Amino acid sequence: MRKSLVAGNWKMNGSLETVDALAEGIVQNQAEIGCDVLVCPVSVHLDRVSRLIDGSLVKLGAQNCSDKSSGAYTGEVSAEMLKEVGCSFVILGHSERRTLFSEGDELIRNKLLSVLDAGLIPVLCVGETLDEREQGVAEAVVKAQVLAALKGVTKNLESVVVAYEPVWAIGTGLTATPEQAQAMHAFIRSVLAEISEELSLKVRILYGGSVKPENAREIFGQPDIDGGLIGGASLKVKDFISICQAAG
Ligand code: PGA
Repeated sequence: MRKSLVAGNWKMNGSLETVDALAEGIVQNQAEIGCDVLVCPVSVHLDRVSRLIDGSLVKLGAQNCSDKSSGAYTGEVSAEMLKEVGCSFVILGHSERRTLFSEGDELIRNKLLSVLDAGLIPVLCVGETLDEREQGVAEAVVKAQVLAALKGVTKNLESVVVAYEPVWAIGTGLTATPEQAQAMHAFIRSVLAEISEELSLKVRILYGGSVKPENAREIFGQPDIDGGLIGGASLKVKDFISICQAAG
């Protein structure tokens, strides 16, 4: 049985003060949570948040990482470095990175390999744009993203978490209906089954895109939805905790 996971993607938000309050607030309420919980602050806050959540059930993740292990790559951070400050997860291929920072499938695959090599868990984000959905190619786009990222990957493959985030639902207040989300999650599972049936049963597939306390329970109630990747609503302790509670 897959254990639900709720991940807070804090994106480029917060100050030392607000990040402290957020991390402490989540830890204080952890007893009310039955699912796995992950917080992903901006990289300069990782070490600090790592200390604040130390000894709690809350896990730490980064929002991105380099595909290189070390060397002359100004501005980059390697998977090993993230591991050293306490990360166990890394979000990869978020649509903001794909569109605003031109990350392509090959780069995302190389990053995924580095993350797995370091023994960390990648949260691979995939999702179609509104245009692609309207053209009827949403499944084809998502399938291509999943297969490109996992191509030839064998080491620790079963640890991978996939996050389905329709681009049109991210930060827009628009949410896929539970039925739309379930249909795509079941489709992603069928794509994973092409690699291995066992893999498809083990991989957690999260939904992301305007998840809020009001819609979380219905979304997470779908059979192929194993939790969520939460942006805006993860910045408020109360909302994030109630979304976690909706996941189990
Ligand atoms: P949102 O963001 O919850 O603010 O829509 C989700 C995400 O980008 O991961």
